[in-house]
Amino acid sequence: MITDAHSHVLALDFGGTKLAAAVVDIQNGQILAQQRQATPAEQGADGSIKTMLTLGRQVLKDCTLAAPARVGISFGGPVSGDCRTVLMSNHVPGWENVPLPQLVSETFGCPAAMDNDANAAALGSWWYDAHREPDHMVYIQISTGIGAGLVLKREIYRGAAIAGEIGHITVVPNGPLCVCGKHGCLESLTAGWAIARAGRKALENAVHGSPLWQACQGDADRLDARLVIQAANAGDPTAGEIINDAFSALGIAIANMILLYDPQTVMLGGGVARAQREMLAVMEPVIERELHPLSKKRCKLQFSGLEGRETLLGAAHLPL
Ligand SMILES: [Zn+2]
Repeated sequence: MITDAHSHVLALDFGGTKLAAAVVDIQNGQILAQQRQATPAEQGADGSIKTMLTLGRQVLKDCTLAAPARVGISFGGPVSGDCRTVLMSNHVPGWENVPLPQLVSETFGCPAAMDNDANAAALGSWWYDAHREPDHMVYIQISTGIGAGLVLKREIYRGAAIAGEIGHITVVPNGPLCVCGKHGCLESLTAGWAIARAGRKALENAVHGSPLWQACQGDADRLDARLVIQAANAGDPTAGEIINDAFSALGIAIANMILLYDPQTVMLGGGVARAQREMLAVMEPVIERELHPLSKKRCKLQFSGLEGRETLLGAAHLPL
């Protein structure tokens, strides 16, 4: 039920593979209307902006809302320290130095705020998973890539601009090659693409009919992180090793984050984090082993229950 139009915020999520727009009631975290579309990457930044503005107008119309109170933008890539400019995108060409909040603000006739997607998701998760209880929370998104958002003293901590790049901290010296060109980054072991890559490599030597082979019927192109985890659960020893390496690396990274920031909560979100049981079984003993005695039992480990909505919800709460 629409009660107060002043609490209705237009949230825009510019992802590498999809665009999403929603009207969020920030009084209760309800998404009142939502539209999604694949990112037209071949049309560059201009095509994404045009498509997103159309989606934004559509959700406002769906809610019979003439104008939102403000707009919150989540961008899937680095933004400038003052959050006024997109720096670039790894997925879509033409995003260098685009003043996106200004463009959006002019279109919808209201103020617009922006941050990167990990920070937006962290804020959404802090509001609606953690219910704003912890003063200090680390949110880690484990999906195609891995990023973290730091809520410190109840606000997003950005450093000079891009704090929280946990995906590219080294967890295994001289480990597997990462997309960034380094070796042994957390992302090179634990991201969805990395688990799938390790699975495909293992499939080359897999016995016909083994759980890993069965999970994808021997077709390497079908093998994704979910199927590798499934094969590990079915007792495939090689898949088990891949999962063990992936979630041990995550445990080391989380222990390091706890030692650095002493958060009350570490929140895990993203597609790979749906393997909650498998993740905890490997990760908990590693975290226990890696933590200094003073840091033990001080931090709660929690999984997001928002199923991907945290990014839009957090975008709606971004400070202007
Ligand atoms: Zn890397």
